[in-house]
Amino acid sequence: MDTERQLLEDADRRALAYFDGIPGRRVFPTPEAIAALAGFDGPLPEQGLPARQALQLLDDLGSPATTASNGGRYFGFVIGATLPAAAAAERLVLAWDQCASSFDNSPAADRIEKAAARWVLESLGLPTESAVGFGTSATACTLACLSAARRALLARKGWDFDGDGLMGAPEVRVVVSASVHITVKKALRILGFGINRLRVAPVDELGRIDPAQLPPLDDMTVLCLQAGEVNSGEFDPFAELIPRARAAGAWVHVDGAFGLWARASSAAALAAGVEQADSWTTDGHKWLNTPYDGAMAICRDAEALATAMNSDAAYATASRDAQKNLNLEFSRRARGVPIWAALASLGRDGLRALIDRHLRQATYLAERLRSAGYQVLNRVVLNQVLVRADSDEQTLAIRLAVQATGEVWFGPTLWQGRPAFRLSVSSWRTTDADIERLAELLIALKTRHTA
Ligand SMILES: *Cc1c(COP(=O)(O)O)cnc(C)c1O
Repeated sequence: MDTERQLLEDADRRALAYFDGIPGRRVFPTPEAIAALAGFDGPLPEQGLPARQALQLLDDLGSPATTASNGGRYFGFVIGATLPAAAAAERLVLAWDQCASSFDNSPAADRIEKAAARWVLESLGLPTESAVGFGTSATACTLACLSAARRALLARKGWDFDGDGLMGAPEVRVVVSASVHITVKKALRILGFGINRLRVAPVDELGRIDPAQLPPLDDMTVLCLQAGEVNSGEFDPFAELIPRARAAGAWVHVDGAFGLWARASSAAALAAGVEQADSWTTDGHKWLNTPYDGAMAICRDAEALATAMNSDAAYATASRDAQKNLNLEFSRRARGVPIWAALASLGRDGLRALIDRHLRQATYLAERLRSAGYQVLNRVVLNQVLVRADSDEQTLAIRLAVQATGEVWFGPTLWQGRPAFRLSVSSWRTTDADIERLAELLIALKTRHTA
């Protein structure tokens, strides 16, 4: 029987072996590795396995079937890897096993997450008085922010949302971009706004809301904008839209799951004016390269978020700014700690350098592919490169051929109704050599599929 220490050492040894293998690992697993996952199809054992054996099963069957998204050649979605300081902090957090709901549950988590919150606001140039809830995802944080928005708009009309709910309440209207992210729609749907009732703001050819076509706004409207369109990486024209919305009394929420981090780079001007919004969501687990699941709900009116998310009970009262009163979870892990560690290890300079490097790499990648005859469909203002070959068939064939090599991975998308590759540069591990390898592979395959 292993001691707990031996078991943890075994886990560390396996984790380090995995880690050392990342550079040589296929970016997407082989069909054989995937087939072997059938080893997990059995029933719950009557008697528990020795813990070491359970760990061995995970490593033997699980590790080979992972995607190497913690490596430098994964260009799918906006996944990011995990920064060393964040990974190390996560190990410590696991040993602490804190329920990070409030100061009383964990003074350490409470204070460290408050520091992380302050640094996040500083990095993103958002109002320092804002509340920051560390939630599981941009999806969950959007839900938290939008519920705070609705509650606050109704309160201004004298409506007691907490007491009386929505039946008979004055209508809160929502305006979204035609290229709104699906998870914002999901949050709105769950909150009962009704997908068919959303007012859709038309976008220009780059995917940005066209101010000339913005639906009317008033003091019972929530306007949802985005920093970083999921395909093109473009930003809505905040400096023009937000003052208009505020003048009308509307609440402005910004989905900045990855794009908001441009604020920490030398391309901050892309998101000029975003600080005038009322609430924002962003992820740590994408461009900041922290572990899942670390995201932030940020609300200028701290009280609005704290009342909407309040979960005080007789046995568990806490300050307004306790994390259990700023996001959906009551019991929660200290997910702000690896975010603190990422920011502590990067500093302002390191964060700027990380984002700037990805912007430069994306621009270079686009140039290489364009000069080899690919169509680059977006302006490449950020870390997203949208690419198409000569025909839809060729685009599909090349993507499948790339995936079969296991050398790199990226996903498909539809841009203006036609298939394209969506290449995201968002891992701190991605070197210029990785970008070169991706470009050369795509160029070689283009030649082969053209011949
Ligand atoms: C990924 C993403 C989301 C959702 O974030 P999760 O953390 O995965 O819930 C929302 N908006 C945009 C633009 C995204 O890229």
